[in-house]
Amino acid sequence: MRIDVLTLFPGMFAGPLDESIVRRARDEGKLELRVVNLRDYAHDRHKTVDDRPFGGGPGMLLKPEPIFEAVEALRSDTTRVILLSPAGRVFNQALARELARETHLLLICGSYEGVDERVRQALVRDEVSIGDYVLTNGALPAMVIIDAVTRLLPGVLGKDESSADESFSHGVLEYPQYTRPAEFRGMKVPEPLLSGHHGEIARWRAAEARRRTVERRPDLLPNLPPEPLPKPRKRRTKDDYESGHSGQD
Ligand code: SAM
Repeated sequence: MRIDVLTLFPGMFAGPLDESIVRRARDEGKLELRVVNLRDYAHDRHKTVDDRPFGGGPGMLLKPEPIFEAVEALRSDTTRVILLSPAGRVFNQALARELARETHLLLICGSYEGVDERVRQALVRDEVSIGDYVLTNGALPAMVIIDAVTRLLPGVLGKDESSADESFSHGVLEYPQYTRPAEFRGMKVPEPLLSGHHGEIARWRAAEARRRTVERRPDLLPNLPPEPLPKPRKRRTKDDYESGHSGQD
């Protein structure tokens, strides 16, 4: 996958995307990342990218011309152009999965009071927010999206790091996890995890994931898979009635 980021602050991207899994994905050619300075598309002497809002009000807005020129230079027919904005669709794991299926993302980072409305109208397929709070500019939201999407790209996570059972992968939170020692300062690892019995471990994990989700994130409840139904009772036969047997084994 290729991800281009259009930003006024390319320096902010050094560090977070040069470490860990994103670094590895880049080194292995699974992620091609380009951080593009919006000022490269401003042509006056001062490389101006912002101006005052019509109608007055505080702060400055990013002007349309440099953003239009940059997007038109960077996009192709298969590019999904995304504007980072507190007014956008709130980012979640389902959207991360959807974006991980694309071949090219172009993330536009706003700055100051945001961007001229015509950018939204004419260039952008999605507006994405990373949560109900306001950050200084779109660099951190872009990095959040790049990280969440990259770890879902095929082959990026090794077998030992699979995303299959993580929080939100089944619409619910992850179950509690423990490692050695089996007892630490009087706190014991739950018995089922030490049993070596796969079925028992899976049942314990499913029940704990459900309990944790109910307690902490009731808003996710509609995502919960139905609880396994109890084994159906065997129909009682005439002989059972006569012998007083319940019909259960
Ligand atoms: N005036 C804007 C408003 O009230 O919605 C806020 C502008 S914010 C200071 C500057 C830029 O940071 C935004 O254009 C956007 O690109 C980015 N940004 C800030 N908070 C964000 C969030 N929660 N999610 C995504 N992007 C955000």
